[in-house]
Amino acid sequence: MNIALIAHDEMKETMVHFTLAYKDILKNYNLYATGTTGKKIQEATQLEINRFLSGPLGGDQQIGAKIAEEDMDLVIFLRDPLAAQPHEPDIQALIRLCDVHYVPIATNLATAEIFIKALQRGDLDWRSVRKKGLFK
Ligand code: PGA
Repeated sequence: MNIALIAHDEMKETMVHFTLAYKDILKNYNLYATGTTGKKIQEATQLEINRFLSGPLGGDQQIGAKIAEEDMDLVIFLRDPLAAQPHEPDIQALIRLCDVHYVPIATNLATAEIFIKALQRGDLDWRSVRKKGLFK
């Protein structure tokens, strides 16, 4: 199962704390991240992270491509809701693709915690929903 981790600059510290707190759960999955987020998580947790380009340079689009190919199962995207991002269209595209392909996406810490707890219980299997595919 593949999980994408992305955090805007103001949220990177929160993401590092989150991944440190749930390292024992996250280590069981294939982790992907945008460039800088991945570097910070890797340094703090020693988790193995597949890093894409930095978000503003196309990293969100790379993760979007994996979502479109149905090769991403969960996205934790700690967005900064108080600052405009230069790559806003890429962010909107990524979120839209999650909706198209039924990929759960957490855009704040509260939802991220719920997803992690569901992973811990082993009951976050939405792939049967995806198979029904309203959009296909
Ligand atoms: P970054 O990208 O992890 O490379 O900073 C995240 C983003 O801003 O989308």
